[in-house]
Amino acid sequence: MKILISADIEGVAGVFNSEQTRAGNGEYERARRWMTEEVNAAIRGAFEAGATEVLVNDSHGSFRNLIVDALHPRAHYILGKPRYLGMMAGLELGCDGVMMLGYHSQAQGRGVLAHTINSFAFARVQINGESLGEAGLYGGLANEMGVPVIFGSGDDQFIAENKHRFALAQWVQTKVAHGHSSGLSLSLEESQVAITQAAVSAVRALAQRSTPLIPAQQEPTALTCRLTTQGPAFADLFCTLPELVRLDGVSLEFAAPTMAHVIRMLNSMAAMSFMLR
Ligand SMILES: [Zn+2]
Repeated sequence: MKILISADIEGVAGVFNSEQTRAGNGEYERARRWMTEEVNAAIRGAFEAGATEVLVNDSHGSFRNLIVDALHPRAHYILGKPRYLGMMAGLELGCDGVMMLGYHSQAQGRGVLAHTINSFAFARVQINGESLGEAGLYGGLANEMGVPVIFGSGDDQFIAENKHRFALAQWVQTKVAHGHSSGLSLSLEESQVAITQAAVSAVRALAQRSTPLIPAQQEPTALTCRLTTQGPAFADLFCTLPELVRLDGVSLEFAAPTMAHVIRMLNSMAAMSFMLR
């Protein structure tokens, strides 16, 4: 049984401020160690419950936050960018379940450090009229590939936003959001213990099922992705891609056959946005 852990940093216990999520300062150096320890806690749980292989996808920012020499020796690590499947790279290697660790709620919401993929460029992402955050988009991608989301950890807003989407998942609330940069956190130790316990239950429950939980998608569907940008300059830039349709000053739209296609488009635009920094 092969498990993929997609690990972000904003939902890790103790992380509340953007400084803790950006390289180049002491606060970040501490926070990336907490992220590494939460990942190790999830890996321990997965192996304890019978996983035979654990892949970890470093899913924040530059995709190289985990402190490699402090990571669990039995798991394997997907680091660096670009990657076609972004936060879910590793699924293409064949996985039985996905864990979303240290995740956060969507842009415009009330969660700690809430954003969707790129806070600099994207104000809102909607798929077929529904506003989705990273968990909705990337969890949708996993489901499309026939892989269930079995675990999620992050703040209360992240859980409230996604609980109904992934009925099979175990959830760990690492903190309660009081605002974008404030809230009430578990201690690091308490959070790590809860993550190990939930990982054990999640992987055990997966192992006990003999039939596939979700059939992989055979036929393409018609998805419409509407993107609200953080300003007209972003929409000007992104619309140099021929398949985008400009709707107004800050909004654009494109059609996609799969969630994988949507995610590749969004990540391409996120990369383009560096031109405007
Ligand atoms: Zn992140």
